[in-house]
Amino acid sequence: MIYLCAISNIRSGACREDCKFCTQSVKWGADIKRFREKPIEVIVDEAKLAKKYKAAGFCLVTSGKSLDDKTLEYICKASKAILKEVDITLIGCNGVATKEALKELKKAGIKIYNHNLETGKSFYSKICSTHSFEERFNTCLNVKEAGLKLCSGGIFGLGESEEDRRELINYLKELKPDGVPINFFIENLKLPLKATWDKKMAIDVIKRVKKEINPKILMLAGGRELVFGSEWVEALKYGVNSIVIGDYLTTKGEKEDLDLEVIKRYKIKVANEC
Ligand code: SF4
Repeated sequence: MIYLCAISNIRSGACREDCKFCTQSVKWGADIKRFREKPIEVIVDEAKLAKKYKAAGFCLVTSGKSLDDKTLEYICKASKAILKEVDITLIGCNGVATKEALKELKKAGIKIYNHNLETGKSFYSKICSTHSFEERFNTCLNVKEAGLKLCSGGIFGLGESEEDRRELINYLKELKPDGVPINFFIENLKLPLKATWDKKMAIDVIKRVKKEINPKILMLAGGRELVFGSEWVEALKYGVNSIVIGDYLTTKGEKEDLDLEVIKRYKIKVANEC
């Protein structure tokens, strides 16, 4: 069984945080599309398309540090509009958030909140100086207390050590997320980091997340195409049971039709809800 998840970047760029792996930070001046709010009708159409491509989940992602009041209002509006027309599990990914704001998302129909810890606590200050690991961890706790399902993972190949990866996995283990997305850093000329993952490391990370956390959904997310190419089904052997389909936030993903062809060829059953 595989869970397919599509993501929609509904607010892109212009983030004042300085995460070194992220093209959406104004600090790095990457050449990406920047917009404040994607029109709701466009988001609804994207959700319909995701459903057509068998996505069980549709993730509404906003750039920026936190889920402030205006963002909350916008996400709630988008969520209600989608659910009127499309039967799909909605996921919010809107940064650091209070329990109260998360409860409002839940009332609007969001079922899952994605907030990645990104990397181990000891390494965190090397990749971001504008907010702390603790803020991220506490948001994950808020997600659970608000009654939403938690999706939390990280990004690998940022120059972190083996020990940093172990630390991240230990913190995730403490949170017991329902879903763990695993991303591999995608280089960009404007970003100050070079990718340090290789396939062996990627497989090791997947196996350890499976063994130590064993989440309901273990998702191979950003960087999948670079690590596994079209042979991503290999990752299913190590415990992956979910992939992101379509484009990522600011980088191109695989064509949905090609992924569906592979799924058909290997006779993999596709889950219709998260
Ligand atoms: S807070 Fe989010 S959008 Fe902003 S730079 Fe960091 S990862 Fe990117």
